[in-house]
Amino acid sequence: MTRRIAQDRTCVAERAPCARDAAIRWFAGPDGSAWPDWTGRARVGGRGAWTCADPACVAAIADGRALSRAVRAPVRAVPPSELVARAAAAGERVFLERLGLATRAGAAAVGEASSREAMRGAGWLLLVADDAGESGVARAEANAIRKGRPVARVASGGRLGAATGRDFVSVIVIQASRFETDITRLAAGLAAFPDTLVTAFADGERAAEAGSELPPNGV
Ligand SMILES: [Zn+2]
Repeated sequence: MTRRIAQDRTCVAERAPCARDAAIRWFAGPDGSAWPDWTGRARVGGRGAWTCADPACVAAIADGRALSRAVRAPVRAVPPSELVARAAAAGERVFLERLGLATRAGAAAVGEASSREAMRGAGWLLLVADDAGESGVARAEANAIRKGRPVARVASGGRLGAATGRDFVSVIVIQASRFETDITRLAAGLAAFPDTLVTAFADGERAAEAGSELPPNGV
């Protein structure tokens, strides 16, 4: 898997191309402070600028100065922790929205039986509930790592279920599609933030080289 999107984004905190897979677009909101857009598509809020999906880069723009210069409008300072939380919450919303869209579009194999089937194909992403704790989940993870596919642990099975119209979901395979690209990028970005619904992420190829980057699922 190559780095997907962020390489052409210049991080206004680092004044350098984003090294991460994911980048966040920032704009000045109606309240005059910085607001995040993880889709990068909506072009909401007029002129925007990018940071890496990295809490350090987000915290570094909290004083508003770098963003003011980039968007050519005054941007009010907010506490760094508040801006990091704002970024994480916005990323979670987009992640769950994309997951719901993927399900409705038929691009998500939900549950252990359909996941196993979908993992025979190519180009997928595995999502596992970090509170699933079943041997089938561990097997699915090991299978993904062995095949060089990305894996994201998500808190929790209840939230995976809510996003896909079920009660509790332990495993989802997002099949090769624009959803797979989007959700993989979002999962990689969210995993860098503290206390988000993506509690761990392993990029398939790098994980396969290094052995599993995910700690054993000890539930
Ligand atoms: Zn950065």
